[in-house]
Amino acid sequence: MMSKKNVAKILKAPRGTEDVLPGDWQLWRAVEETAREVFELAGYYEIRTPVFEDTNLFVRSIGEVTDIVEKEMYTFKDGDSSGITLRPESTASVMRAYVEYEIYKTKKFQKFYYIGPMFRKERPQAGRLRQFHQMGIEAIGADDPMLDAEAIIVAMRMYDKLGLPGCKVKINSIGCKECRPGYREVLKEQLIKNSENLCELCNTRMNRNVLRVLDCKNEKCKEVTAVVPDIREHICECCKSSFDGLIDILSASNIGYVIEPHLVRGLDYYTKTVFEITHPSLGARDTICAGGRYDYLVSDIGGPETGAVGFAAGIEASMLALKNSMSEMSDSTKQRLFDIKEPAPDVYIVSIGSECRRASFLLTNSLRGEGISVDMDYEDRSPKAQMRTANKLKVNFVAVIGQDEIDNGTVKLKNMQTSDENVLEKAKVAEFIKKLLLNK
Ligand code: ATP
Ligand code: MG
Repeated sequence: MMSKKNVAKILKAPRGTEDVLPGDWQLWRAVEETAREVFELAGYYEIRTPVFEDTNLFVRSIGEVTDIVEKEMYTFKDGDSSGITLRPESTASVMRAYVEYEIYKTKKFQKFYYIGPMFRKERPQAGRLRQFHQMGIEAIGADDPMLDAEAIIVAMRMYDKLGLPGCKVKINSIGCKECRPGYREVLKEQLIKNSENLCELCNTRMNRNVLRVLDCKNEKCKEVTAVVPDIREHICECCKSSFDGLIDILSASNIGYVIEPHLVRGLDYYTKTVFEITHPSLGARDTICAGGRYDYLVSDIGGPETGAVGFAAGIEASMLALKNSMSEMSDSTKQRLFDIKEPAPDVYIVSIGSECRRASFLLTNSLRGEGISVDMDYEDRSPKAQMRTANKLKVNFVAVIGQDEIDNGTVKLKNMQTSDENVLEKAKVAEFIKKLLLNK
């Protein structure tokens, strides 16, 4: 028996992270591939930005008085720089690239999408990770509310294509630089009267970023905010007409929505439209996709004044909603999303004796080079054990390599469906198999 001292301690993945093991890939792929297809169909093209950025980018764009910047960022010192931060979201990075490379100079209006990991130091709890994934789109360079509607329609088309029933769209306007300050005052006045019923954090938010009080998940705070005036009664003509434009297109496109008068987002850069898509199976934290318009973001980080709108969908949250909805799905949807595809080679190579394994390996690779899926035994097991594996894998062909075959430059090929056996010249095996596979 090994002494305890010699047993290496098993290292575990850090808290709040998840491994995607081979059996889990089916759903990941279905979600990512569907997203790419739907985004590209609507003219959005992929952009990949670094997973870390200058800390200032996030502080400036997301806002200092937000959960993300105040307590959720992974920030490091990096030499003399002002610090780097693992990206908690991607919108700021996409805008940074748009500005840095002066993309707007050649074509002001651009559509991008991204898929990738984000990092937030959240308290690990159900559905909350510290490394999670988002897929999102950004339309930069125009302020037409048609694009706000497009973002919602694209997200809903993605969920529809995935086969997720029961999604709900919630929309609101949070005004702009012209009208929001007025509403802030009205809101503050109301909240101050009830400050003893608000949580400690909301009492500080009241002076620093009063709109955030509307986003508090605390039940008592929710009671207070339920009766505050609606922001839409205080927004300017420009914001109103933008919101009406959004509603007009959503209605004409048969997208069901509800107006949530107190919907705000956790990031400060939003203006005018904000929206969420929720799924009833997820309980209290039911948002699977969130977005809106951010007309000052590009200029705030040094670019030209120009409108932008987009969303970020949580991949893990979306996948959880899909898993929870299995009982309502058609068989074909279930199969597409959840049926695990085991590796299934068409050919298995059986070596008769250790000295033949080299020839088997060379044949394996030459057949793969011809586009045929092939596998062989790498553990030097007996021919009988190799045959057992071939049967388990349900391969179409077994190619046997023994000393005779090596001496004669041949391969003994067994068709597992018909039990026909052929001794073929090595050079002709690929062609022979391909022909039969085609006729299958
Ligand atoms: P929430 O109020 O749910 O924390 P947020 O305002 O922080 O949302 P966004 O940045 O708008 O979230 O993110 C959009 C979506 O990304 C969320 O609705 C959620 O599905 C997902 N998401 C955000 N943070 C996490 C996390 N820590 N773990 C898993 N998914 C997350
Ligand atoms: Mg959050």
